[in-house]
Amino acid sequence: MKRFGARYGPTLKKRFTKIEALQRAKHKCPYCNKSSVKRIAVGIWHCRKCLTKFAGKAYTPRGEA
Ligand SMILES: [Zn+2]
Repeated sequence: MKRFGARYGPTLKKRFTKIEALQRAKHKCPYCNKSSVKRIAVGIWHCRKCLTKFAGKAYTPRGEA
């Protein structure tokens, strides 16, 4: 398994960075349309404007990833 590290390491890191950026990006709330949605857990999103908690995709509220 160890010898695969060099081959897959960079790819995985790149993918992780992309996902991280998606997580940190501001997401629009489907209820009040403000970009105040933050991920509080995997698949759980929270809007700080209307205080709605809702289920979404793991990395984005609406599944762009
Ligand atoms: Zn909202």
